[in-house]
Formats: sequence, C-alpha cells, structure tokens
Amino acid sequence: MKFKMFSVIVGTEACIASCPFCVSGVKPNQENSKENNINWRNLKIAANLANRSDIDTVMLTSRGEPTLFPEQITEYLKHLKEFNFPFVELQSNCIPIALNKEKYEMRSILFSHI
Ligand code: SF4
Repeated sequence: MKFKMFSVIVGTEACIASCPFCVSGVKPNQENSKENNINWRNLKIAANLANRSDIDTVMLTSRGEPTLFPEQITEYLKHLKEFNFPFVELQSNCIPIALNKEKYEMRSILFSHI
C-alpha cells in the first residue's frame, strides 16, 4: 500500500486562537503548556516506514498550535533531516509567529541551515 503523507504530531492541544469551528484546541494551561516527551526511536521507525512507502511529504501538525513549541519543531526537523523527505509542511495558525516576528525571522535563517 502506498501513502502520500507522513503526519507528525507536534506539541499539545494548547492553542491561543478561538476558532468557532474548532473541535480540538484548548487554551494553554499549566499541563498542556509543557512539551510532551518524544519517543525518537519510534519516530525513526515510522520515518523509515514512510521512506519505504515513497512518502514525499511530512506534515508537522498538532491537536492545538504547534508553533507554541518551537524548540520541539526544531528537534523534529533535526531528526527528520536524515530521511531527505522532499517536502516538510507545517500546519499552523501562525499567531505565535506573528506575535514574535523578530524571533522567527532569526529562526528561519537557522532552519535553512539545519
Ligand atoms: S487554530 Fe486550529 S487548534 Fe487553534 S482554535 Fe483554531 S482550529 Fe482550533
């Protein structure tokens, strides 16, 4: 069986938007504002399977807003780099990026060198 996309869940259900149609995001609180531990070994196994299935796109997505956890996104990019997926996409409402524009302009430079 062939698949098109490899979805990777980033962050938690925390989100700072209030979309009326949302079935997932909840406001950040003490619990959902902490990064979950990532099982990098399992990510590698899944990424290998994705590679063998000719996946061309990795989708970094979340049950909330992934860019509330920028360090985790960076770690995912570092771990996924060895697999050379043609495309890595990020599903985001971009609010945290817009609120920290200068910080993320620096990060985009860093991402291009990861
Ligand atoms: S941006 Fe996404 S997760 Fe956040 S409230 Fe809107 S639909 Fe929900």
